[in-house]
Amino acid sequence: MDNRNKKEKLGIALVGLGSYSEGQLAPALQQTAHCYLAGIVTGSEEKAKKWQVQYNIPETNTYNYQNFEDIAHNSDIDIIYIVLPNSMHAEYVIRAATTGKHIICEKPMALSVEDCNRMIDACNKAGVQLSIGYRLHFEPFNAEMMRIGKEQPFGPLKKIKSDHGMADTDGWRIEKALSGGGPLQDLGIYCIQACRYTTGTEPIAVTAQEGAKTKPEKFKDVEESMTWQMEFPGGITAECSTTYVKRMSYLRAEAERGFAELDPAFDYNGLQGKTGDGPMQFADINQQAAQMDDFALALKEGRPTPVPGEMGRQDVAIIQAIYKAMETGQRVELK
Ligand code: NAD
Repeated sequence: MDNRNKKEKLGIALVGLGSYSEGQLAPALQQTAHCYLAGIVTGSEEKAKKWQVQYNIPETNTYNYQNFEDIAHNSDIDIIYIVLPNSMHAEYVIRAATTGKHIICEKPMALSVEDCNRMIDACNKAGVQLSIGYRLHFEPFNAEMMRIGKEQPFGPLKKIKSDHGMADTDGWRIEKALSGGGPLQDLGIYCIQACRYTTGTEPIAVTAQEGAKTKPEKFKDVEESMTWQMEFPGGITAECSTTYVKRMSYLRAEAERGFAELDPAFDYNGLQGKTGDGPMQFADINQQAAQMDDFALALKEGRPTPVPGEMGRQDVAIIQAIYKAMETGQRVELK
């Protein structure tokens, strides 16, 4: 462990001060025990000024997209967190790796498996850890689904159902060049993750169907909604759906002798769950604070993050297989 990791709180620099950084990550960093908001990277001088005042960030810890590699020389910053549109993740993670700082990258990790490989290689070469912003791994209701899948209190799992949708969206999320696709990239990825962490296994094959467009003028470039099915080892099947025109946030696992269900499953707070034995009783936590604290602790303790780039790459591979299945109408096998 080097000296910088012995600091009580590690410094995080947020790259991209959009709605997730502003609404969730910066407030969460006021509640973290092992890391704090040390720096910002933004293309807007106006935002830089506002954040400097609001979060007491010095000018010396404020960067733009051109000079952000200078973070290499800033001992206040230990972790660079990429919170940009999906298509920019690969470039910015690879640039961030050259600074020698550890990295968190938002989901989806990138738009292709090849880009994920380049990102992982760059981090390995630089000797830095790469973590993906999978906040639900640090949240008790979803952790309970993982436990039920693993310990099988209701017998072996048989079926998973998961849906995630928003009532509306706009901006880069509906421009394929920036997003990589529609709600599958942004929201369906949570269902893929949920199926993987609940079953504790990897899908063998997928089939998929695009939903009819109710707003074709808006969703010119990307799917408005879709359904897909996944086959897992041991005969477990998953039925999933995602959309940009209806709110959904659901996860259910059916086992031989019972079930477990989260509804809502993927929200920032207010999650609720039940099994055949009754309601799940867990406190609401700040998921982003728990996620960032775990990464900071992993670095301090010299252990790997439980949500590494390899996990993000597998989701990207599954997303690509689902799109291929949707486009061809064929069952697509995963390696
Ligand atoms: P946003 O549109 O609100 O913010 C994007 C930021 O990137 C803005 O500050 C914008 O100025 C900046 N930017 C720089 N270059 C840009 C360009 N060429 N086009 C558009 N914006 C550009 O988006 P967001 O909701 O903050 O999402 C950012 C990332 O965070 C995405 O990858 C998204 O999937 C992820 N996210 C994750 C969660 C989660 O729960 N883990 C939640 C929301 C968003």
